[in-house]
Amino acid sequence: MFETAIAGSLPKPAWLAETETLWPAWRSTGPELEAAKADATLLWLKLQEDLGIDIVGDGEQARQHFVHGFLTRIEGIDFEHKVKMGIRDNRYEAMVPQVVGELRLTGRVHADEARLARAHTRRRLKFTLPGPMTIVDTVADRHYGGDRDGRIRMAFAFAELLNQEARALVADGVDIVQFDEPAFNVYMQDAVDWGVEALERAAAGLACKTAVHICYGYGIRANIDWKQNLGSQWRQYEQVFPALAKSAIDQVSLECIHSHVPPDLMRLLDGKDVMVGVIDVASDGVETPEEVADTIGTALRFVAPERVFPCTNCGMAPMRRELAVAKLEALGKGAALARQRRG
Ligand code: ZN
Repeated sequence: MFETAIAGSLPKPAWLAETETLWPAWRSTGPELEAAKADATLLWLKLQEDLGIDIVGDGEQARQHFVHGFLTRIEGIDFEHKVKMGIRDNRYEAMVPQVVGELRLTGRVHADEARLARAHTRRRLKFTLPGPMTIVDTVADRHYGGDRDGRIRMAFAFAELLNQEARALVADGVDIVQFDEPAFNVYMQDAVDWGVEALERAAAGLACKTAVHICYGYGIRANIDWKQNLGSQWRQYEQVFPALAKSAIDQVSLECIHSHVPPDLMRLLDGKDVMVGVIDVASDGVETPEEVADTIGTALRFVAPERVFPCTNCGMAPMRRELAVAKLEALGKGAALARQRRG
């Protein structure tokens, strides 16, 4: 009960990449970089186990960014000529690659880190991929027409490629494939109209658990400012959860601790596992185990105990490493305390 998990990303060690930044530059190149990525993956697997995380991940140590990591092995994408674009409804600007032709996988994307992780942990292994709608929101379209119809066609094209990679990840021994769809909290009507369907296409036929992570973003300034303008109640999930409840996706995440998400929205996920955010990624304060257990207690008012999976609110990529370790420790201890409280 109360198996703990991380949303996905973890800070990269200073010897691997720039720290505390979202699109960090790597510290090395070639075989040296590949070895450093592998070392960082192993380091975080060990730490997650020691800190009481039950469902572990690779911490996304081998990819520069959660969306662009997947795009590096796709034909039809021009990474050489990135352009500046407003993303997440212009919440912030990013340098994004351009889609310039038909999309096709040129090979496996994440085989190395998935197999490495599988070989070195006996715990359940979750692997994250960006969701189709969020990918479409993080690339510049120069091929599909640049309009709404084009975005939808492009999302389903990406969904096909995600499905190919996800099937291969299952063959590598991954237990849960999670798709990250922060865009669902930004374009709620589009999510209902076609986003959930594209997500289901990406997850179709996977012989493992499937999950979707939806959040209010990393703890960076642009997101903190945005959240201040969302009012006293954040009801974005309310629009998308009913569609997800009807979908084939097994697990759904939501931000809980320190958010203005009304916790009763969890009721809308009847029949799903709920990854409950019990660790804030946007504050430097470390949660106490009591706070974590209390947040789990809040979830239990709306979700059956066997369906509650305590988790971080979002990825920890831009966080200081020591802070992430302290927060994961609180997650592990808080879940243990919640189990103890239930006897
Ligand atoms: Zn997130």
